[in-house]
Amino acid sequence: MNKALASGIALLKDRDLWRSRRTVASQQGRKILLDGRWVLNFCSNDYLGLAADPRLAEAVSRAMSGRGFGAGASRLVCGDFDEHAALEADIASFKKTEAALLFSSGYMANAGIIQALVGRDDEVFSDRLNHASIVDGIILSRAVMKRYPHNDMAALEALLAAGTTARRKLIVTDTIFSMDGDVAPLAELVVLARRYGAWLMVDEAHAFGLFGATGAGLAEETGTAGEIDVQMGTLSKAVGSFGAYAAGSQVLVDHLWNNARSVIYTTALPPAVAAASREAVRIMRAEPQRRQRVLASAAFLRSALRSLGLEVPAGCTPIIPVQLGSAKRALTWSRALLDKGIFVSAIRPPTVPAGTARLRVTVTAAHTDDDLALCVETFRKVMANE
Ligand SMILES: *Cc1c(COP(=O)(O)O)cnc(C)c1O
Repeated sequence: MNKALASGIALLKDRDLWRSRRTVASQQGRKILLDGRWVLNFCSNDYLGLAADPRLAEAVSRAMSGRGFGAGASRLVCGDFDEHAALEADIASFKKTEAALLFSSGYMANAGIIQALVGRDDEVFSDRLNHASIVDGIILSRAVMKRYPHNDMAALEALLAAGTTARRKLIVTDTIFSMDGDVAPLAELVVLARRYGAWLMVDEAHAFGLFGATGAGLAEETGTAGEIDVQMGTLSKAVGSFGAYAAGSQVLVDHLWNNARSVIYTTALPPAVAAASREAVRIMRAEPQRRQRVLASAAFLRSALRSLGLEVPAGCTPIIPVQLGSAKRALTWSRALLDKGIFVSAIRPPTVPAGTARLRVTVTAAHTDDDLALCVETFRKVMANE
């Protein structure tokens, strides 16, 4: 076995596609202690700067006093704590849905929700750039996967209109695409779903906490929330915690409780983790200046990087892809930036299509104006030295 695996690893290294890790010893929102050195972090998904907020850690220790840490069993056996239900009620109230269900991670949410909703006799229409966890959920469901070109509504409509014997049709999309930072056309998706009798599921992983009048997500921002059957989102990005949710009707949640295998057959989240998420959601709602700050910083950084002549698409999200083409070039730039104290990890295939390796720069509310200026200046130097 080792020989076969080692030759696969050698091949990856040859192609600059080998993935290595860097050990984090500490983080303070904008900064990260990486291999013994503090550097500015421009690649985390901690958009609101909440992951290291002491109020989350305090919520954890409060929740743990008197009841320990682990949940001990799945929710349906004896691991269903009051903190889980309270968080679900908070999320449903924030999302203005009848109900919500907690999952242990976004990956598990997508795997469980899709598998619970569709099966062999069904079709799932999936954007080509959807997150890997959505793709895996579709594979797990055994439904027929129909991928449409990124955000191409005409192509989606052609697939939906084609003759089919499918029992159910499900359209699923990221609302903010995780590696490109662009936005799905939700209003058009709602129209197509209705026209062709399809269900619509959205993944708000990178929009929850950032977009909409109250920060509930892109569905809120576009006024489409009421037309979407399943709103999934994570608690691991802007929320700065861990876990994920499905929000929608009570019937949907009742169905998931009884059919989503990634809820039924897994140990419940430690209740203290749910308590941290509750505190983070509370802060998110109470401190709108955080999302205003991150969106303004993102607009500044995006336009400054574009002015340098880098290949950066226009957009409005804190995910700013700097296209570099080859995996080798992305790695070289990433190392050069890190040498100068700016941490942006290289994103390479198969995470993104071949030939589109990039630096995925992300901004958080914790970055200062000086941090942003230093990031731009460092990119300028790396570019000049290439
Ligand atoms: C990160 C991400 C997930 C997975 O969420 P985790 O909580 O990290 O497992 C799912 N969907 C999208 C679009 C994501 O970006």
